[in-house]
Amino acid sequence: DPDTGLDPLEFAVTRNLAAKSAADRDAILANPGFGQSFTDHMVDICWSVRGGWHRPRVSPYGPISLDPAAAVLHYGQEIFEGIKAYRHTDGSVHTFRPDQNGRRLQRSARRLALPELPVPYFLQSLRELIAVDGAWVPSGEDQSLYLRPFMFAKEAFLGVRPAHKVAYYLIASPAGAYFKGGVKPVSIWLSEDYSRAGKGGTGAAKTGGNYAASLLPQSEAYENECDQVVFLDQDRNVEELGGMNVVFVYKDGTIVTPQSDSILEGITRDSLLQLARDRGHHVEGRNVSLDEWRRGVASGDIVEVFACGTAAVVTPIGILKGRDFIDEQPMGTLALELREELTNIQYGRAEDKHGWLYRL
Ligand code: PMP
Repeated sequence: DPDTGLDPLEFAVTRNLAAKSAADRDAILANPGFGQSFTDHMVDICWSVRGGWHRPRVSPYGPISLDPAAAVLHYGQEIFEGIKAYRHTDGSVHTFRPDQNGRRLQRSARRLALPELPVPYFLQSLRELIAVDGAWVPSGEDQSLYLRPFMFAKEAFLGVRPAHKVAYYLIASPAGAYFKGGVKPVSIWLSEDYSRAGKGGTGAAKTGGNYAASLLPQSEAYENECDQVVFLDQDRNVEELGGMNVVFVYKDGTIVTPQSDSILEGITRDSLLQLARDRGHHVEGRNVSLDEWRRGVASGDIVEVFACGTAAVVTPIGILKGRDFIDEQPMGTLALELREELTNIQYGRAEDKHGWLYRL
């Protein structure tokens, strides 16, 4: 690697002798849903204080054997990523800005006191898995192979300190179209009793605990007939949804998105904002209070609000519901136009002007 001087890893490949037949695989790919079926193989790389990154493997997909005292089971020292592989019409397979996922995994690692996997190793892990499981990348409309890299503390030790033994894994799961029958606006529940992150906390890291903390407020959203939950910070500024960033479009074309060190920096958001800038929109990352949101919608200054992330790409926000109010949100066209522009690049239907695609 020219940047890091690292040699590629030499993965030991063990083929899955019980791999699914092409017919069984195609049956799954015809209707994959999300996160419920997995490909035939997985990748793992060990790390230890003494040995650094070692024993890179491609193995049959299957259960992981862990000591009951493994630190991750007790103290949650764990991080992950989410990234999609897309099949183009010529059959080639591409991921979108995977270097950004690799770098975000490193930032998450730093916050969770885990070792930083070099980005070239991260990219190589994606290539190794696609080399054996490439047939699992579906070719239907809006389908993809969802890649899930993750890393956890596997040392058997009950002391509270950064683990001396860590594992990095990569698994993959075919994903169907997120919205069947067209993109639908989502309804959002305002979480007043629970927050997702705090100042100096782990909000900017992709770590399991953040998602564990979002489950109860998410149930509250369902009880209130909402699809998703939006979190505020201690000053009542908007942060993000449980798994998506929030973007506001103003009447004068300005686009504003919350920026703070307790929000996960979405790669979808960053890309959509770049596409908006390319169209001449002015983009601002700054605090947006709940008050600014509600007043902006009431006055007509805010003309569109949408959420974005890898899984659903872009979804307009249709309703914001709180304990004592329901604000209907204005519907515009920008969110869906940017969605189309982005997915056209991802699926190879439009020119990749920014060099975002990475062929696996
Ligand atoms: N916020 C949170 C909390 C998320 O889990 C995600 C999904 N990774 C996002 C935002 C969107 O990030 P991305 O666009 O990189 O998927």
